[in-house]
Amino acid sequence: MTPRQIAEVASYHAHIYFEGPAQRAHAMELRERIAERFSVALGRVHDKLVGPHVRPMYQVSFDIATFASFVPWLMLNRGDLAVLVHPNTGRELADHIAQGLWMGEVLPLTNLDMLQAETVAEEPRTPNTAPTLTP
Ligand code: ZN
Repeated sequence: MTPRQIAEVASYHAHIYFEGPAQRAHAMELRERIAERFSVALGRVHDKLVGPHVRPMYQVSFDIATFASFVPWLMLNRGDLAVLVHPNTGRELADHIAQGLWMGEVLPLTNLDMLQAETVAEEPRTPNTAPTLTP
């Protein structure tokens, strides 16, 4: 095999899933705690299913430097929420279904035909949080 290069990773997404009122409340609380601590781009809360996702969720886009603090923090604070963290390398389909890591429940992904096999790797989105606390 020819190993792929870490340099292929332009950014990461964390998809934070919730189901039912208790998980939704926790997910919204988690969202606030994330905004206070990390310079990330918080996506909209999708109560209706979007893209390949089979459960309501919101997306967090973050850069490579943030991975080392944000992902361990999520491990400690996700509670019972399922989380998919995946790299953005320009292979959108593989990034989601093969290169991601799951915390908690592993959920199926659907509508895979809407994901591109080869595209331009997504650069980190402009952060829309203003952290005031250290993780
Ligand atoms: Zn994603």
